[in-house]
Amino acid sequence: MHELSIVQNILDIAEAEAKKNNAAKIIKIRLKIGEMAGVAVDSIRFCFESIKYNTIAKDAKLLIDHIPLTGRCKNCGVDFVIKNYRFICENCNGNKVEIIGGKELQIEELEAE
Ligand SMILES: [Zn+2]
Repeated sequence: MHELSIVQNILDIAEAEAKKNNAAKIIKIRLKIGEMAGVAVDSIRFCFESIKYNTIAKDAKLLIDHIPLTGRCKNCGVDFVIKNYRFICENCNGNKVEIIGGKELQIEELEAE
């Protein structure tokens, strides 16, 4: 499963980071996941719950910030939230839209002690 390897990767990073700071356990992991990151958030949560027990993150809380799909119009320069994958500028109806947000998949915050 795609999400399982992502979660494994996140846990590896979190553990390495915690060890670097001489922390014994991870309390909180906050992720930033874009609407177009290509992962199912429910699967991320499920995988995290299934594999955290063998790690120093076994008591950690997983928080997820959802990042909406955001575009910038190449015609008028306005930034806007893209709804229903409709890549049309709200301001000028232009259809040349650059994606500037919504593909994120990263650790935003890590709390360990
Ligand atoms: Zn525009």
